[in-house]
Amino acid sequence: MDFRVPPELEEIRSSFLSFLDREVQPVEERYRQQIQDDEWTDEMREAAMDLRRKSAEIGYYGAHLPEEVGGWGLSVLGMTLLVEAGAARGYRMAVGVLGPPNPEAPTPLLLNATPELQKKYLVPLVKAEKTMCFALTEPDAGSDAQAIRTRAVRDGDHYILNGTKHFITNGANADFAVVFAVTDPELRAGGGITALIVDKDLPGFKVGKRQKTLAGDTNQVELIFEDVRVPVTNIVGEEGFGFQAAMGFLNAGRAYIGALCLGLADYCVRVASEYAKERKTFGKPIGKYQGIQFMLADSVVEIEAARWMTYHLAWLVDQGEQPIKESSIVKLYNTEMASRVSDRAIQIFGGMGVLTEGPVERIFRFVRMMRIVEGASEIQRMIIARTLGL
Ligand SMILES: Cc1cc2nc3c(=O)[nH]c(=O)nc-3n(C[C@H](O)[C@H](O)[C@H](O)COP(=O)(O)OP(=O)(O)OC[C@H]3O[C@@H](n4cnc5c(N)ncnc54)[C@H](O)[C@@H]3O)c2cc1C
Repeated sequence: MDFRVPPELEEIRSSFLSFLDREVQPVEERYRQQIQDDEWTDEMREAAMDLRRKSAEIGYYGAHLPEEVGGWGLSVLGMTLLVEAGAARGYRMAVGVLGPPNPEAPTPLLLNATPELQKKYLVPLVKAEKTMCFALTEPDAGSDAQAIRTRAVRDGDHYILNGTKHFITNGANADFAVVFAVTDPELRAGGGITALIVDKDLPGFKVGKRQKTLAGDTNQVELIFEDVRVPVTNIVGEEGFGFQAAMGFLNAGRAYIGALCLGLADYCVRVASEYAKERKTFGKPIGKYQGIQFMLADSVVEIEAARWMTYHLAWLVDQGEQPIKESSIVKLYNTEMASRVSDRAIQIFGGMGVLTEGPVERIFRFVRMMRIVEGASEIQRMIIARTLGL
């Protein structure tokens, strides 16, 4: 057993961090006030896209995909390390400079598509020339995703698509959506749900209302499909097996969400411990008080536990295994751990902790959402309990 990060991954991680400090930090500085006020302007969104393009030119963006489509074939462990290290820098403008864990970024799901579709959709995604969105959730179907109602009915060499999706990240800006629709209501998850690539400019594709969250405008919208004619050739994978195709990448996806929360928790401990060394009460830095030390120590312990579970999960996926239990453990533990750690960090900052100009309150709000996306905590607990035969 070797617990060291392989030297080649160490090298990639270190050059990625230099990229963040060189390219992202000045942009972060330029928009500091707007970030603090959570006022995302078009100019800022364009600056974020520009950073994404720069990242794609070097190859970080989409690095987890195979070389044939423009990636590096970076291992899940490698991408996990980048996601974690990037999050730990705490740059808000860095969201999206890596593919995972963003649902608008190039996704391995599209490797199930035909070579023609990969050329048309996946390759431009890896180059950051296009963006996408992943449209599964509906007002009446979230955790129980097989209950979706969006229908795709075959009409010659097209499907007629009707339905409403919501909470769709990047739905307003995406060039195309990967939409999950029922093609056989009898079979549903057993072979009746199909994934289709749907171009934004097709007649009947409408962007509905914006859905602001407790973390501000995190870019979610409703999508409405009214008699949209989608070519049958736009199927991702096989008809009826879109669900299975998406589930195949869930384990790696959960390693990336775990790594994101891990990095953000690390950032909280760093800034809180720096503050604890400077802030004085009753004549002493607050970091000299055991009450503060214990909060930070508990956070360090939880982060360390999360780190090794996450690396282990990434390693298992790289070995070709299907670590369903481990991926649920990481998704559950890391998202809840990051909530606890950011909560303690706010406490250490005192009143400054709850001001929007403070460095941790936005992380506290953001990681709260992570306990719901991509399988809420209860669903992870359900999956873990099933491994006990329950
Ligand atoms: C910020 C954000 C971004 C998102 N981005 C996307 C996106 O890009 N694309 C997309 O398709 N979706 C997206 N989603 C949707 C997300 O995946 C769903 O919100 C999530 O799966 C939960 O579904 P729900 O909101 O319908 O909750 P529900 O399924 O209605 O669950 C409500 C509550 O009941 C609990 N629960 C459900 N079933 C059980 C059970 N059997 N036992 C115990 N408890 C249970 C849940 O854990 C939850 O606490 C996003 C959501 C958010 C908040």
